[in-house]
Amino acid sequence: MIQRILILLIIFSFYINTNAQKGKQDIQLLAYNIGFNGVTAGIGSIINKDKNQKWVECFAKGFYQGCLGGLFIYSGKKLIFELNNQKNDLYGWPSKILYYAGASIAENAALNKKFGKYWNIDIWAFRCDFSFGENSYFKARLMVSSIYSAVYLLPKANFDWRRSVMTGTLIFSTNSMINGHYGIAPVKAVGISTYFDNIPGYNEYYVISHELIHTYQFREYQIFNSWLKPFEEKVPKKIKNIFINYLYLDISYMPVFYYLQGGEHNSQYYFKNFYEFEAEHFSTNTFVPLKRF
Ligand SMILES: [Zn+2]
Repeated sequence: MIQRILILLIIFSFYINTNAQKGKQDIQLLAYNIGFNGVTAGIGSIINKDKNQKWVECFAKGFYQGCLGGLFIYSGKKLIFELNNQKNDLYGWPSKILYYAGASIAENAALNKKFGKYWNIDIWAFRCDFSFGENSYFKARLMVSSIYSAVYLLPKANFDWRRSVMTGTLIFSTNSMINGHYGIAPVKAVGISTYFDNIPGYNEYYVISHELIHTYQFREYQIFNSWLKPFEEKVPKKIKNIFINYLYLDISYMPVFYYLQGGEHNSQYYFKNFYEFEAEHFSTNTFVPLKRF
């Protein structure tokens, strides 16, 4: 009897402990998403300030709006777990809408614009920008990274139109190896590599959820483009017009940070890379050990 109680207590304490550890990771990622967007929007707001504006005020305004954007971003990422949990690709849409609402708020703040002035969302290979109210507009530009990815993947994988429609993100699938990986690959820039392990729970919905978080990570670093805004003045008008009207230059900032984290570690330490850790945590909604096995 005592033995049984002891075993139950050990299992229960393990459960509590694991849950507490998972909670810690939740808070860590909440802090990261809020903090990153707050600070980058604050700095962007100073870079893009008018001459008569005080930098402290600009930073404060950019910071708190960026933090708000980060909260939406976190919520959008959190919702991606439902895609895996419910085994329903359609959860890609509400997650995307919530995420891009946050990304728009943060980017708008980094550009030092009035709250809620500009919104954007990436749908398939298009970056869609729009504004409500007076001077409302809508424009869709092809994303350079998507063209690159599609050209890279088309000869190697099949375009998965059903999943692309259901998630709003271009998705390719293949049974053959690409760069040592195989499986399903949502595409936005470098979100092309993925894998299937023969581990229970590591199914196609898990893979899509995990990889979609990578596409979000890629997108949120585009906030650095707002820091480059003053340099736009120096670009010849003809070239600038192409990018204003037809193409969106989504620069691959994120892969640089990814490789600064050591790139892909071996499978035992795979989640030591922060971006892998974040993708795994949001797609599985569980405690992610930094050392496996
Ligand atoms: Zn990954």
